[in-house]
Formats: sequence, C-alpha cells, structure tokens
Amino acid sequence: MSCIYWIRRDVRVHDNPALVEAIAQGVKTAVFISTPSQWQQHDLAPIKADFIRRHLRLLAKQLDALGIEFVHLQALDFAEQQQVLLSFCQEHNINTVFANTEPELDEAERDNHIARLGIELKLFQCDTILPPGTVLNQQGTMFKVFTPFKKAWLKRVQEVGIACVSTPTVVIDHNNAERFERAQEVGQSNDIVFDYPLVDSSAWPQSDRVMELVIPKFWQQKLLDYANARDIPSIKGTSGLSPYLAIGAISPRWLAVQLIQAQPEVIYDQAHGAFSWLNELIWRDFYKHLLFHYPNLIKGENFQVKYQLARWSGSDEDFKAWCEGRTGYPIVDAAMKQLLHTGWMHNRLRMIVASFLTKHLLVDWRKGERFFMQHLIDGDFSANNGGWQWAASTGCDAQPYFRIFNPITQSQKFDPQGVFIRKYLPELENVPDKQIHFPHDYFNQHGIETDYCKPIVDHKTARLRALDFYQSY
Ligand code: FAD
Repeated sequence: MSCIYWIRRDVRVHDNPALVEAIAQGVKTAVFISTPSQWQQHDLAPIKADFIRRHLRLLAKQLDALGIEFVHLQALDFAEQQQVLLSFCQEHNINTVFANTEPELDEAERDNHIARLGIELKLFQCDTILPPGTVLNQQGTMFKVFTPFKKAWLKRVQEVGIACVSTPTVVIDHNNAERFERAQEVGQSNDIVFDYPLVDSSAWPQSDRVMELVIPKFWQQKLLDYANARDIPSIKGTSGLSPYLAIGAISPRWLAVQLIQAQPEVIYDQAHGAFSWLNELIWRDFYKHLLFHYPNLIKGENFQVKYQLARWSGSDEDFKAWCEGRTGYPIVDAAMKQLLHTGWMHNRLRMIVASFLTKHLLVDWRKGERFFMQHLIDGDFSANNGGWQWAASTGCDAQPYFRIFNPITQSQKFDPQGVFIRKYLPELENVPDKQIHFPHDYFNQHGIETDYCKPIVDHKTARLRALDFYQSY
C-alpha cells in the first residue's frame, strides 16, 4: 500500500505540510482533480482558473525534480471528484491521501465524505499564518473585533513563534541535460487542459519569479512607505501578492517568517514602517478564522443578524451600470474597468465601489460579492466576504452604517490629478484635474458633448436614502 499527495489550494512546494509528510512516507504521485461544474457554482473567475493552470505547470516541474509524478484527473463536481479519487486509489493500491485543508463548507463536507469511503485522508493546515482556532478571546471564542484579535495574534507570535515546514530543496540541475529536459517536458507537453473558460493571466508572473525577484524588491523599496502608498491606486504601492495567496502558490506563513526574520521589531512595534503590511496579512488571517468559526457565512448570511431580513431595493439596471462601469462617478467607473480589464482591483477602490453599490444604489452586497468572485484573479471567499460585509456595514467589525463614502471626495483624496481615472476612462483625458472627479458640471458649462455617462444617482439624495434604509433595521 502507498500514498499520494492531493493538490488543492496549495499549488506550491515550499511550506507545504501535506507534501512534506507525503514525502516522508515515500510519495511518488501527486494528483490534481479539476471540477469545472463546481468551479462554475463557486464563481471561479476564468483568469483565476488560468492562473491555477499555469501554476500547476510550474508545480509539476518542481515535483518532478523531487521524483514525484504529477497527474491531472478530471471530474465535474465534488461528488464526482470523490469517486475519481477513490477509483484512482483503488487502481494504484493507495490507502493514504495527504492534503491541506480547505475550510469552506462544500470542501469540508467533501473531505468528511471521503473519510467514509475507506481512504485515509490526512489533513494539514497551511492557508493561514496562525491556524484557525488558535487565536481566541478569554472566553475561548473568536474575537468579533479586529484590534483585540490582532493583539492576541501578535502575542501568540511573540510567545510561540512561527515556523515553516521545510520541503527538500527543489533542484533542477541545469547541467544535467537529461533531467532538465524532462522537467521542461513535464511543464509543456503534458499540458494541463481545463474544461473551463480561461482568460489569459500571463500579466502575473509565476510564483517562483515573484519569490525570487518581486518580493525582495517590494520589501527593499516599498515596504517602509507602504502605509502612505497603499491608498493611491495610480501607483504600485502594494505587493500584488493576493493572487498567489488566493491559490496557495505562496505561503502566507512563509511571508510572515521572512518578514520577521528580516525585521524582528515588526511584531513588537506597531509604529514600525513594515507593520502596516503585516497588519494586512493579519486581516487576512482574521477573515479566515472568522469563516472557520462562522461557516454559515458561506451561505450568504449577514454577520449582523439584524440585516438578515434587509430588503435591498436597488434595481437590476443600476447593478448592471455598476458592473459595466457606467455610474457617472469616474472613480467608481475607472475601478470597475480596472477589474474588467485586468482581473484585479486596488484595495481602496474595492472599498469605494462596494460602498457605492450597497449604500448609494442599495443593491444587495451578495450580488457585488459574486460579481467580484466571477472576475477577480485573487477571488478568495473569506477576504471577499469580509470586505463586502465591511463595506455594506453588515459584517464583523464593519464600517459603521452612517459612514458613507463620498465617491467625489474619495477620488479627490486618493487620485487628486485623476491619473488613475484617465488610465481607464480615456474619454475624460482632457478634463482638468479639478473637475475630473465629477466632470458633469464642467461638460455642461462648456457645452461639451461627451460619451461619458450621466450620474445614475445623486450623491446627497442617495446618502439620505441609505441612512433611512439602515436606520430601519
Ligand atoms: P497588499 O496591500 O500588499 O497586502 C498584502 C496581503 O494582505 C494581500 O495580498 C492580501 O492577501 C492581504 N490583505 C490585504 N488587504 C486585505 C484585506 N482588506 N482583507 C483581507 N486580506 C487583505 N482580497 C483577496 O485576496 N481576495 C478577495 O476576493 C478580496 N475581495 C475584497 C473585496 C472587497 C469589497 C474589499 C474591500 C477587499 C477585498 N480584498 C480581497 C482585500 C484586498 O482588497 C486585497 O487583498 C488587496 O487589494 C490585494 O492587493 P495586494 O496583494 O497588493 O495587497
């Protein structure tokens, strides 16, 4: 009898506990089982599917260098996936499957079911820096506010420390032509084909390059100014690592360990320049832990139960205009175009557009959440749900309902010269900086005919309507 390593949301060799354990047991095969119908149900964005596919190619090469064969199996959904796995195990006389956990409900149920099929499924955790369930308040439950969670998180890291599991080093010997060619072949001829729509993700380099070049450069050049630069969408002031974290191509724990090794003060001094960035990784952990403790979030529940019966009255037309970047508010429209053109959106803009959809248009946050998942290369249920419920004021430690972003002042503050807006809305190219945040008066005053759409809602009216809406619950 033998074992396999089952690749899921952990498309990497570094800091991968399931892989390390499987190697210790002499694993010779790693499988990935694609499930296009399930992906459709879970709104997997085609650009994210392509990103996964490219990283599987890289992983196949890296596994080959470790003497592990990569096998791609296909199923429709999780039900069929279990059968495919079972048949593969029976055929190859395998009794143990090593994998890393996926916390969402469907995934957890699937894993419970597999255990009943007679396969021993050994699960490990590697999607967070601190494992869910290990950062609790004095009552032994999950924090409902981020700041005390962060304090407890830091205390635990200070006291217990964090460490990655070490995988045997991946060595593709370039001097050993035969071995190198074979490794190349694994990535090319044995190409991975998904029966799923794909959108080219090649603007995002593969994780090996990112780990080698992009991360050190970000840390050297951008980290100390991150707190200021992170809110400006026209500059590259953030790490751009979310797609890699979302598919498990880069380990969050590896990032934290590297950061703390380079700058040990960061976990003791919240005024330290690098702390703001670590803080975002802690937010990521916070939302993952939240999902672990409140699995029903995946069923679309409002974290604040009083909003469960909320009647979001926003129209389909307004939702469509928002999706297509036709609201007449340049910062919102440019942000939506960024999402549609690149599969990614800057964090400040995610906050602005989510606030606009829910508060200005009174559209149910779940519609925006779903649209994001369908388009984001970094679509991640917990961060996305957390972000949407934060913006809609229905969530855990959310934005208070009466704080309603004014899209014009947000634009003036974070894109003062309209550099970002002009990039995605070329029709506004010649509008002066001062007017670009709401160019309609300028067009009227100068009698300019324009293709740019009229505002679909008046800010002041929408604000009062939103206050009424929230106060009624
Ligand atoms: P950096 O600023 O460099 O931060 C480093 C890492 O910290 C990120 O890669 C990310 O993993 C994590 N992080 C940063 N901000 C947050 C945050 N607010 N919450 C949780 N983790 C964070 N992030 C996703 O990864 N997937 C999503 O689907 C997602 N949907 C969002 C939806 C809304 C409405 C909002 C407001 C935020 C959402 N975020 C999501 C969080 C955030 O916008 C992105 O993580 C960030 O823009 C990624 O850019 P970066 O990698 O350059 O981040």
